[in-house]
Amino acid sequence: MTMQKNLSLQLERQLPRGSLQLIRTAGALAAERRCGLYLVGGAVRDILLGRDNFDLDLVVEGDAPELSRALAQGISGRVLVHQRFGTAKVKHDHGSIDLTTARSETYSRPGALPTVSPGSITDDLRRRDFTINAMAMDLSPGRFGALVDPFSGEADLRRGLISVLHDRSFVDDATRMLRAVRYEQRFSFRLEESTEALLRRDLPMLATISGDRLRHELELILKEDRPEDVLERAQALGLLERVHPSLKADGWLRDRYRLARSASPPSLPLYLALLTYRLGADETEDIIARLRIPGRAAAVMRDACRLKADLPSLESPGLLPSVIHRLLRGRSPASVLAAAVAADSAAVRERLELYLNRLRYVKTSLNGEALQQMGLSPGPQLGEMLGALHEAKLDGRVKTREDEAAFLRARLTGNQ
Ligand code: ATP
Repeated sequence: MTMQKNLSLQLERQLPRGSLQLIRTAGALAAERRCGLYLVGGAVRDILLGRDNFDLDLVVEGDAPELSRALAQGISGRVLVHQRFGTAKVKHDHGSIDLTTARSETYSRPGALPTVSPGSITDDLRRRDFTINAMAMDLSPGRFGALVDPFSGEADLRRGLISVLHDRSFVDDATRMLRAVRYEQRFSFRLEESTEALLRRDLPMLATISGDRLRHELELILKEDRPEDVLERAQALGLLERVHPSLKADGWLRDRYRLARSASPPSLPLYLALLTYRLGADETEDIIARLRIPGRAAAVMRDACRLKADLPSLESPGLLPSVIHRLLRGRSPASVLAAAVAADSAAVRERLELYLNRLRYVKTSLNGEALQQMGLSPGPQLGEMLGALHEAKLDGRVKTREDEAAFLRARLTGNQ
């Protein structure tokens, strides 16, 4: 029999002290109840890889909500229980920790959510996506840190392989195809040979996935450090076109995503708008509908698409700031940023950036009230005067509050 690997030293080295204390306490409470308690999933994988991951998921061979209540009481934390799902979240001083009742799963049909029933830790690991995510660490006081690895995940980690647990994995849940590519690119691993063959075989199963689940996986991809790597690999495998036939990951996108990251971490809407930037309005709408992209992000995608058509007018030499402002006001800032990142012309990009960094913040000191005090009654004329004042300020014809007052007085007398 092989010696079971113990990772307690790595746990102590890598986890913050508070989290370590918490899982030790949880392990002791579970032992008192004679139920198994395990750290599972991504945290185990990342501890083995020496990467930080403070997202701790625990699996209880027993009643997770009951154990969570006891744990919260023991550490004076708060607990949020979902009795129906057998899950709970314990919030403590340093963050939170999720506890789930160990379960086994069966799939009634491809793409459907699974039917679940209580199970052992091995059952719980068997339902997971890849061997590297199907390891657990025992947290019971007597075996603290012992690795539970029924599917040889550690060996795959060492060899740098993404492997499914069984041949029907992608049929049961086709989102795993996108997850496979995401982990492969994140860790610079590769798909294990038969896993890749299964993925290619099961590509059509992606059609069984709801828009919400597809969008969620796409969002996870866009949260990676280099989403373009994942998208390009998904394209090479024929996966991206199954998400939507209009999507394309090429050198253009790679350059734009890099550029988008050069200032600050890009928002999800910005990445999405760049992904669909080169498409027509109809294709963009189709993608928004298929992936059920929510309001704000969809608005940015649409705005960016419309803005693209108006960009040539930003090329003329000698444009006044007020003209640039008129062209861009009312559009979502993320869509203007998308256009700035996407623009081929340096002049256009400069103007979009001028708007984003300065023009959109320009405000006049005097407002409608000041105009009324000067004797103008509310109405369209007042609005026009304020508009003219704003433009004068944008173009630098007025600077101070006194300039503004003088500008308005001159206009008022001129208009009388
Ligand atoms: P990440 O570092 O991307 O957050 P993670 O492994 O923590 O990675 P989660 O999405 O938080 O990923 O999922 C937690 C665990 O749940 C995974 O490690 C995996 O074991 C399991 N899991 C998640 N999604 C699936 C899926 N579609 N099919 C099977 N198991 C899954």
